[in-house]
Amino acid sequence: MSLTANDSLLRLLIFLCVLVLMGSLEYVIPRKARQAHRPSRWFTNMALSVLGALSIRFLLPIVAVGAAVFAEQQAWGLFNVVRVPLWAELFGAILILDLLIYWQHVASHFVPLLWRFHKVHHADIDVDVTTAVRFHPGEIMLSMMYKIVCILLLGPELVAVIAFEILLNASALFNHSNIAITPRLDRYLRWLIVTPDMHRVHHSTVVPETNSNFGFSLSIWDRVFASYVAQPRKDHENMTTGLAEYQQVDTAGLLWCLSLPFRRADTRGDVKSDDT
Ligand SMILES: [Zn+2]
Repeated sequence: MSLTANDSLLRLLIFLCVLVLMGSLEYVIPRKARQAHRPSRWFTNMALSVLGALSIRFLLPIVAVGAAVFAEQQAWGLFNVVRVPLWAELFGAILILDLLIYWQHVASHFVPLLWRFHKVHHADIDVDVTTAVRFHPGEIMLSMMYKIVCILLLGPELVAVIAFEILLNASALFNHSNIAITPRLDRYLRWLIVTPDMHRVHHSTVVPETNSNFGFSLSIWDRVFASYVAQPRKDHENMTTGLAEYQQVDTAGLLWCLSLPFRRADTRGDVKSDDT
């Protein structure tokens, strides 16, 4: 079995374990009452995940891991020019990649073309572990292309890219999950990582809250770049999640999600919220 096949299998296995763990915890310690019909939401969110994976598998010549191998072979990128100890490279590469993903997420909200795709993710009426994989295949493709460019410029060790991909996936599943963590534990955790309560603020229909807490894994970037909002204006139980303009629409339809970026009048400026 090739290295890439091993890496894919490892990532899939960890993804499934974290998905089942968070999905189970949502039953045991739920945080917020659900609004939408769960089976249709879950079907669509998981179907989008599969379509996204198939898109990058069949439409892109390489993925992030392949880019790291290529950069090493060609001696491209910062870490192939500046030699540092492996531990420092691992730490530095994960930190820099997480920062680059933070800026990509900010751009997804403020560049109208990117927002057209990203709002498929935000249109989910409820936020739970499956929201973590609810991305339009077009956004998955754009994200992977951005990541490939970042890796070619950075030239990190293959192991750093694999570790980052696992961390990013596991973090997304964790911070989208609808689980109740004690306020004290939440306070400690969010000094380092993005917690479910912190990320739920980002899924609020209130625009200043939607445009906050862009971090995916580490919570530090939102504090450094002043995009951190600690709590929603309403409390977590009463806040509205999703997008204000799609509260009366069935956003769980697969075809609705796939066609959303291509409809008219779909810019960020059209969003209405209950704070205006
Ligand atoms: Zn977002």
